[in-house]
Amino acid sequence: MREILHIQGGQCGNQIGSKFWEVICDEHGIDPTGRYNAGNAGASDLQLERINVYFNEATAGRFVPRAVLMDLEPGTMDSIRSGPSGQIFRPDNFVFGQSGAGNNWAKGHYTEGAELIDSVLDVVRKEAEYCDCMQGFQVCHSLGGGTGSGMGTLLISKIREEYPDRMMLTFSVFPSPKVSDTVVEPYNATLSVHQLVENADECMVLDNEALYDICFRTLKLTNPTFGDLNHLISATMSGVTCCLRFPGQLNSDLRKLAVNLIPFPRLHFFMVGFAPLTSRGSQQYSSLTVPELTQQMWDAKNMMCAADPRHGRYLTASAMFRGKMSTKEVDEQMINVQNKNSSYFVEWIPNNVKSSVCDIPPTGLKMASTFIGNSTSIQEMFRRVSEQFTAMYRRKAFLHWYTGEGMDEMEFTEAESNMNDLVAEYQQYQDATAEVEEDFDDGVDEHYEGQ
Ligand code: GDP
Repeated sequence: MREILHIQGGQCGNQIGSKFWEVICDEHGIDPTGRYNAGNAGASDLQLERINVYFNEATAGRFVPRAVLMDLEPGTMDSIRSGPSGQIFRPDNFVFGQSGAGNNWAKGHYTEGAELIDSVLDVVRKEAEYCDCMQGFQVCHSLGGGTGSGMGTLLISKIREEYPDRMMLTFSVFPSPKVSDTVVEPYNATLSVHQLVENADECMVLDNEALYDICFRTLKLTNPTFGDLNHLISATMSGVTCCLRFPGQLNSDLRKLAVNLIPFPRLHFFMVGFAPLTSRGSQQYSSLTVPELTQQMWDAKNMMCAADPRHGRYLTASAMFRGKMSTKEVDEQMINVQNKNSSYFVEWIPNNVKSSVCDIPPTGLKMASTFIGNSTSIQEMFRRVSEQFTAMYRRKAFLHWYTGEGMDEMEFTEAESNMNDLVAEYQQYQDATAEVEEDFDDGVDEHYEGQ
């Protein structure tokens, strides 16, 4: 079995992480006490076939999430513990401090978080040892605060050191002024991106700016709450991990997902999309057809990242359809999209779009689809954060909060230029054509022609 170890950190990370567990427990027929209950979601062997990817099997047939929960203050984790699914987690895997990180990346990464990190690593190690053949880790966190962001990236770098050959997937929530009112978030986010470029293998970008816009414009929620945003996030997380949790061929583990989607190692930040979009508690009355799902899934309005794919080009993309439908129709529709929009796909990676169908739809829907794209247009989001960063950093505003925790200004400068480099790399591949300046492959052609 190829197990995944899940870690959630900070307020946002813990909130989206526990929603993720609620959703996948439901999909796999696991009730809040950890028991498999086929009656709940319709009995199916498929629910249990790969259950060990995310769950440990404890005594008396109980399934326990392979999850570690960390925070620098007890509040969020207290409410998870006392919430409807609080009993499902292993009590020993709650690791928390009392100090808080005060939205300060330096506190999470260098001071308060650094003090707690060994207790987290102890729990991680215990879970890892218990695995048969772990494929890797997934981390849920926000980049705008102090704990998920600073301590989250500290943990990621420690794990990379200790488990260099395991995959690291993150679900990273990017900050937006539309949703939050803490001015230093661009600092925290930029310092985190600097870390994620180097130490994560694949990052699913969840951008609060886009999530807010989806709630406001598409779902017509006049005053979206975190609960509304997190509903979109958990649907997307369920869709993204579907290929890891249910039997199938495409992207069936973290490494295969990475191989298909990452042509250059630094460019591992993915746009994710979901269709159909629904708001919390709403019922879907008319089910969509495969062409409708396909059309919506590729639409900029359905992307969880505030960047327009039509401003860039796709290096690669993957689509996962869920529910009972014809694979042939899915393939036709996907080919159709690519043929009609060929200028939006780099021509120098042939067959760069993959799709698959999983029989089991998400709870409450007959059919759904999830999209993962490696698009050069994601630079728009990095540019947005970078502009907000630079505006403050030029005047060294708020810097004393960070230097006060022992941080060097140099790290800010490095983080800023690393993110700007990333933007430039996306641009470079956006402009690249099939012709390579050097004539180095001529010899190879002749060699094969001669055979
Ligand atoms: P931490 O506890 O120190 O990691 O800080 P937070 O997780 O509260 O980080 C603040 C950032 O996360 C801001 O950008 C918030 O808008 C965002 N955030 C906080 N909670 C949530 C949540 O439940 N959902 C979403 N989507 N964003 C959140």
